[in-house]
Parts: sequence; C-alpha cells; structure tokens
Amino acid sequence: MSRDPKCLFCKIVHGEIPSARVLETDRAVAILDINPVAKGHVLIIPRDHHAQVAELPDDLAAHVGSLVPRLTRAVVAATGADGSNTIINSGRVAGQTIFHCHWHVIPRFEDDPVRWPWPHDSYLGDEMGRTASLIQRELGGHADD
Ligand code: 5GP
Ligand code: ZN
Repeated sequence: MSRDPKCLFCKIVHGEIPSARVLETDRAVAILDINPVAKGHVLIIPRDHHAQVAELPDDLAAHVGSLVPRLTRAVVAATGADGSNTIINSGRVAGQTIFHCHWHVIPRFEDDPVRWPWPHDSYLGDEMGRTASLIQRELGGHADD
C-alpha cells in the first residue's frame, strides 16, 4: 500500500487522525468533510496515496466510482437534499488543497448559496474539431477506435 508520511488523508485513512466515517471498503473510505459546503458533504478517499486523479490506476478509480451512486443516494436521503454535485478538484488552480486524490459528494438544495453553473466559453470556427483532435492524439487514437 502506497503512503505519504506527511499526507493528512493518509493519516485519516490509517486511523491516525479521527474522522466521521460513513463507509469503508478494502480500497477506500468515505468520511464527512470537516468544513462542508453543506452538512452531509462526503469525501471518498482511496486508501492508497495518489496525489492527483491523473495518477490513479484505472481499477482503483473504477472502485471509487462504483461507490458514488450508493453514497449519493445515502447523502441525499439523509440530508433531504434536492440534488448533489460529485467533483474531483485536480491541481491548485482547480481548488485542490489536499494532494491525496479524493471525490467530493456535496448535497445541494434549491435555495443554497453555492455558485453554479460555472461560466461557459464557446468554440469558434474549427476550434472544437481541433481541440477534439488534440485530446484524441494524447489518448493515442480516435474516439471510435
Ligand atoms: P480539496 O480542496 O483538496 O478538493 O478538498 C479538501 C477537503 O478536505 C476540503 O473540503 C476540506 O474541508 C477537507 N478537509 C481538510 N482537512 C480535513 C480534515 O482534517 N478532516 C476532514 N474530514 N476533512 C478535511
Ligand atoms: Zn495520502
């Protein structure tokens, strides 16, 4: 199991720092966020230390993803929320503050103060096709390969 001795979430998943756990599996733990966007805000944390989502092995990402529907149902039912956001912040610019990859499940309410949606850009000319090509090239193929 990979671990960073200086990492807060490694200490939490190993039980060295207390947390309000709501679900545990062999590969992940789900806890309440200590400073929630709304009460019931859950963090799903893989037990292994990986700083960012891009570094996660596919099978670990799939395992954590498989917990999202059940946790979302539980958070929404327990809080009476009208909906939820599931997000991963990756990198400081995206708001990541703890560099041990984790998923947020955030209950949302019709009258809550959270600012959403984000501002939206638009594509001009062939920008959309060129952008898709650049990403496909990084992926090593085409979307229909
Ligand atoms: P990030 O900004 O990295 O996506 O999310 C980190 C989250 O961890 C924040 O929402 C923050 O409130 C939460 N957090 C920071 N320290 C602790 C802690 O000691 N315990 C718990 N349960 N959550 C924490
Ligand atoms: Zn860690």
